[in-house]
Amino acid sequence: MTHPHGTPNAGQVTLSLVVPVFNEEDSLDGFLLRIQQVFEREALIDLELVFVNDGSTDATLERLLQRQQSDSRLRIVDLSRNFGKEAALSAGLHTASGQIVVPIDVDLQDPPEVILQMIERWREGFEVVLGHRISRRSDTWAKQTSAHWFYRLHNRIAEQPLPEDVGDFRLMDRCVVDALLTLPESRRFMKGLFAWVGFRTTHVEYERPERVTGKSKFNGWRLWNFALEGITSFSTEPLRVWTYLGALVSLVSFAFAMFIVVRTLIYGIDLPGYASLMVAVTFLGGLQLIGIGVLGEYLGRTYIEAKRRPVFLVRRIYDPKD
Ligand code: UDP
Ligand code: MG
Repeated sequence: MTHPHGTPNAGQVTLSLVVPVFNEEDSLDGFLLRIQQVFEREALIDLELVFVNDGSTDATLERLLQRQQSDSRLRIVDLSRNFGKEAALSAGLHTASGQIVVPIDVDLQDPPEVILQMIERWREGFEVVLGHRISRRSDTWAKQTSAHWFYRLHNRIAEQPLPEDVGDFRLMDRCVVDALLTLPESRRFMKGLFAWVGFRTTHVEYERPERVTGKSKFNGWRLWNFALEGITSFSTEPLRVWTYLGALVSLVSFAFAMFIVVRTLIYGIDLPGYASLMVAVTFLGGLQLIGIGVLGEYLGRTYIEAKRRPVFLVRRIYDPKD
């Protein structure tokens, strides 16, 4: 591919890795070692490591500060509490200064070598390079299937489809990061926002390994809420479906009413009907409650957005200089 301005991104480049960390004292050393191995021979890449301490309660921050003493590439954003990975990523994007930015997990599930391939594609002129997992073998069966169904549903009803098997691990050009930072919403479903901003996009493939140290912070309930967040952030389809469902149910009950009237005219009054009555009452009651629940879900989100609270709060940024 040729770049529209005829200037592929050759030469020296500054790369910011954005690393959210939440209770990861055991994963830091392994991560920094791998980064060292991958980037030590890359003379054209000036590396900056933006760690976002997402309210860790273990020694993560102390370890990071210790490493910073001897490694001036580390910048540490210390959040005031645990805000969740999405918010931590936003904080990191705000702080990162590189020409290209890559969010990466500290548990080495996003192999750092892949970044070199991403940079090659960026040099060809792409602004976004997604990390596409060719296998989810490291995930459980339940996570794989639920993820698959989530993407099917989401992509069916959202304006902008989400690429499947793509996480937060991706390369972004400065222009993409700046675009993301202009988005005002405070409920941030990063995957969706990443897709929404667009830009010239390609992908590289990689195999996602198991987490090496520590354990995953996303359990089933958290993932379910994450999926709800994704769908309600990018589609209002669940609100509209009630109109059609309501119309359908009314139509059916109208037909049923006609049937009863005609039958009564022909065969006379027939009192038993307790079962059908109960079924209709409970079915419609349930349907209405679900409808109200969906309304509540969106109303709640509107309420939170209306408060205009910041996405995260920073206690302090530690730059190598100070
Ligand atoms: N993380 C975070 N805040 C949280 C949960 C997770 O910053 O509230 C970080 C975590 O330290 C790791 C990354 O997000 O660097 C991915 O988390 P994890 O490996 O638990 O997620 P999974 O790989 O299971 O999806
Ligand atoms: Mg992980």
